Amino acid sequence: MSRRRDPYMGIMKARDSLDIKRKAVELSRRWHDIWKRISERPSLNPSQQRFLKQYEFAPLIATICDELIPAGVAWGFPEWLYNRLGSFELQDLIRVDYRRELEQYLEERLRNLDEDTRREYLESVPRKIEDALRYFKRRKKTPVTMFENRKYPAPEVYFMLRVIPGIGPKKASMITRDFAYRSLGLVESNAWFDQIKERNPEFDVTHHHLIITPIDVHVVMVFSRLFGLKRANWRKLQGNPLLVQDVIVFSKLAFPDLPAKLDDILWNVGRDWCDNDNPLCQECLLRDICDAGQQFLQGRQ
Ligand code: SF4
Repeated sequence: MSRRRDPYMGIMKARDSLDIKRKAVELSRRWHDIWKRISERPSLNPSQQRFLKQYEFAPLIATICDELIPAGVAWGFPEWLYNRLGSFELQDLIRVDYRRELEQYLEERLRNLDEDTRREYLESVPRKIEDALRYFKRRKKTPVTMFENRKYPAPEVYFMLRVIPGIGPKKASMITRDFAYRSLGLVESNAWFDQIKERNPEFDVTHHHLIITPIDVHVVMVFSRLFGLKRANWRKLQGNPLLVQDVIVFSKLAFPDLPAKLDDILWNVGRDWCDNDNPLCQECLLRDICDAGQQFLQGRQ
């Protein structure tokens, strides 16, 4: 049986280490430009933001909902659900049929979602929410009371989150990174962090340099293209251990104090310009340092 060649194999071997370092330096220089773009984007409406800060299970449920569908839709689900239930207490939340409610929610808010994605979403997300709620019921805790009134090193927060059903490595890294951003004052609010802090004033996240950058399909694609791999099955490449290790070490080279900042750049470049089929290299913020981008611009598909 013939085995297909790993498309990432050899990508780094074709590099000079100084070129890798140059790209890392350039990315760290451009983080502020990207961050400014992110900060200027409209986020949730004030009513949704207030709601998420008011109820202990709201940020967790929104986080679990935040896959496969636009983030703005996912984060609006808790308030929508509250308006139907009239409560957001665990004893009421745990009785909800999440498949039925999410089906209804998608019908109202995302009617044009393609059938395959809708099916995939409804097959996994409702079960994850139900498992997560049962997890907290068994432990007699909430996503807020699970934290004590003290400082936590980032890796401890990661694993406290990682064991919750519905929270995989990517989401655990993202939440830990977002807690760190709130702790550093890079964002004005974070509904989950702020609820913990209000209850436990000493709560904080330390050791930010140990937070691993979240790795998703945008990160994999833009990182690979930066180093010259133009096309691949990016979803499949997400599980490639060579690439994952390279992304992790590269993030430490570019952002030694907070390596997870690499995700802000790669994810947002992926979202705004680096389309799989039609990358908008001419407009992309990384076009002068992106090897695949240079080739696309010269018409080499
Ligand atoms: S220059 Fe083109 S290929 Fe490179 S990251 Fe930007 S959009 Fe993607």
